[in-house]
Amino acid sequence: MKKTFLLMSGALLLSATTALAGGHWSYSGHSGPEHWAGLNPAFSACGNGVNQSPVNLTNMIQAQLSPIAVNYQKTPMTVLNNGHTIEVKYQNGSTLMVDGHTYTLKQFHFHTPSENEINGKSFPLEAHLVHADTHGNLAVVAVLYKEGAPNKTIASVWKNMPMSPGTENKSAETVNAADLLPANHDYYRFNGSLTTPPCSEGVLWIVMKNHPTVSAAQAAKLNKALGFNNNRPVQPLNARLIMQ
Ligand SMILES: [Zn+2]
Repeated sequence: MKKTFLLMSGALLLSATTALAGGHWSYSGHSGPEHWAGLNPAFSACGNGVNQSPVNLTNMIQAQLSPIAVNYQKTPMTVLNNGHTIEVKYQNGSTLMVDGHTYTLKQFHFHTPSENEINGKSFPLEAHLVHADTHGNLAVVAVLYKEGAPNKTIASVWKNMPMSPGTENKSAETVNAADLLPANHDYYRFNGSLTTPPCSEGVLWIVMKNHPTVSAAQAAKLNKALGFNNNRPVQPLNARLIMQ
């Protein structure tokens, strides 16, 4: 109870601060995606960036991409509803290696429907596994779930999903982000940005080619917890190529 109160105070303080700075953003209306850049000078990349995410992945280029190496440990199941997404912070010690470069897993969170599209196709749910290297460079592994049988890992997270913004649920359970991934780790690769303000660029995107299933009801529960869909529209590829 005390924990929830502190978090809510924090969320209120944060929203008061960002409101003063003109930084309150959302997924619709006057603070929606097409207005993000104008809400705060720090969000300018949302409007004038040229390597923005999400994108419609299309015209993929055949490249000799080396396999990614995933070494994730389980982490305590502490699930936060931050008003924009449902997020699980990750304990230190879980790593992703891409081309000999090591990133540490920081958190994972979800979007409904998917943010990225593949050849114009949208998916009901997308997970973002957010990693950073020691210099603060970000790498996001994205998993696009197709509609089908309920997903066991999503179910275990959703069971602890706080249904109101600014609240966090702690449970004695653990979760391993490796279980969010498809068995086959083949991927598409390109450069992009954060899909939420400040839309910072220089983010390495690794999008899984294979799609685990999620039920329609599971995808709908994320919308219910947030009260809206939390997908930014796809952004122009401009000069970028998608490698596979
Ligand atoms: Zn995301």
